[in-house]
Amino acid sequence: MFDLNGKVALVTGGNGGIGLGMARGLASAGALVVIAARDPEKSRGAAHALRAAGGRADAIEADVTDEGLVQQLFTELERRHGRLDILVNNAGTTVRKRPDELTLHEWRHVMDTNLTSAFLCCQAAHRLLKREGGKVINIGSMMSIFGAPYAAAYGASKGGIVQFTRSLATAWAAENIQANAVLPGWIDTDLTRGAREQVPGLNERVLARTPAGRWGTPADLAGIAVFLASSASNFVTGAAIPVDGGYSIS
Ligand code: NDP
Repeated sequence: MFDLNGKVALVTGGNGGIGLGMARGLASAGALVVIAARDPEKSRGAAHALRAAGGRADAIEADVTDEGLVQQLFTELERRHGRLDILVNNAGTTVRKRPDELTLHEWRHVMDTNLTSAFLCCQAAHRLLKREGGKVINIGSMMSIFGAPYAAAYGASKGGIVQFTRSLATAWAAENIQANAVLPGWIDTDLTRGAREQVPGLNERVLARTPAGRWGTPADLAGIAVFLASSASNFVTGAAIPVDGGYSIS
């Protein structure tokens, strides 16, 4: 049921953090995992690590905010691997600023990286995904649900991910494509490390509010990726699933 042998998965931003955690899960379940991110050396290193662990992996350089480069990414993916079954839209960034402080440039950068990238990748992937049915996994956040003063653009982009996922789920259901969003809680990665070190009291607040009593790790996202990529989730679509140690219900 969870076997992904013969499947090809693309993970944007898969060269580190949560993306690499999910890539490890998909590769261990048998998928050939293609990592797409901007830093080619880091992506090659991540693909090498997946292969060293017994998986199948490749890397293609791509900036997923650029429409032309996204087209090239999927053309190259099809040329190299001939198919695409699983698309994980994970690439993301943040600018920690209040709505009154954020510049238009920063707003666009966050929206382009977190939300427009998913739209561009889904459009480019659609032709491949509908051949034999497929899976889209979009990465949202607790900020898809909650408000926070410093998450103006980030929260807007992540709220958008949930609604975009629901649109995909309804539009593509008849083509046997399931689309779901994953909402990670506080996960220890490069994205959160700065805030954890610089924002006074953040570490203590996260630990106190998270019933699991700890920060998540990228490996905590591997299981949900395998579930949503596999036939085990064929009747699950349009869902927004927290993976947060209970943060969202406490
Ligand atoms: P990281 O900063 O560790 O990873 C971000 C990844 O995105 C990197 O691999 C980066 O690679 C890639 N990336 C950024 N911009 C682009 C771009 N324009 N084109 C292609 N790739 C890009 O962050 P996380 O692993 O923490 O975050 C991954 C996702 O999870 C994000 O969507 C984030 O919002 C979400 N998330 C994270 C949480 C957390 O607590 N960490 C909580 C909730 C959600 P490169 O620089 O090489 O391009």
